[in-house]
Amino acid sequence: MRKTISDLHAELVRNNLVAWTAGNVSGRVPGEDLFVIKPSGVSYDELSPATMVVCDLDGNLVEGAHSPSSDTAAHAYVYRNLPEVGGVVHTHSTYATAWAARGEAVPCVLTAMADEFGGEIPVGPFALIGDDSIGQGIVETLKGHRSPAVLMRSHGVFTIGRDPKAAVKAAVMCEDVAHTVHIARQLGEPLKIAQDDVDRLYDRYQNVYGQRSPR
Ligand SMILES: [Zn+2]
Repeated sequence: MRKTISDLHAELVRNNLVAWTAGNVSGRVPGEDLFVIKPSGVSYDELSPATMVVCDLDGNLVEGAHSPSSDTAAHAYVYRNLPEVGGVVHTHSTYATAWAARGEAVPCVLTAMADEFGGEIPVGPFALIGDDSIGQGIVETLKGHRSPAVLMRSHGVFTIGRDPKAAVKAAVMCEDVAHTVHIARQLGEPLKIAQDDVDRLYDRYQNVYGQRSPR
């Protein structure tokens, strides 16, 4: 899991989702009440399996030479409260975060959104770092929602997945559709997709196309 998480951070960089050190990936250790996360303030070039840190589900450091990411409490809250989640990603990716800055959900106007998110990408509450507020906002917004991504108001993106790779995929797709819908908005109002078509697309993509659900 250390190697998986170290390698997936390179995907954040490759997909242009992060500036400086402002983004992180974590993964639950299968069968254990532990997860692996990025160390705080270490540049992406210096990340390696050995520099990753291991935390318990309260966010306490269990193993590692560095302190864990400053977003560790939010990741830990998600793992404690959503047992089916095996991976969490946080970014401030540009277009998705621009929607978050307006506190506006990305409307479901693309078939790729119906496939991946099953509808709009919702907005979570404004929450300050330092306690469980961000984690609570993520869980309250995504519990019972099809979307694996939430735009935390005035902050950025959190995504979840059945494993860390699925959560990274959701973060990449979230930025991609936020970008496209933003461009569509510049010259008019994007057309909504009818709910029954959204449902059919989502069902096909999650259950028939390719592998199983990213959740
Ligand atoms: Zn952040």
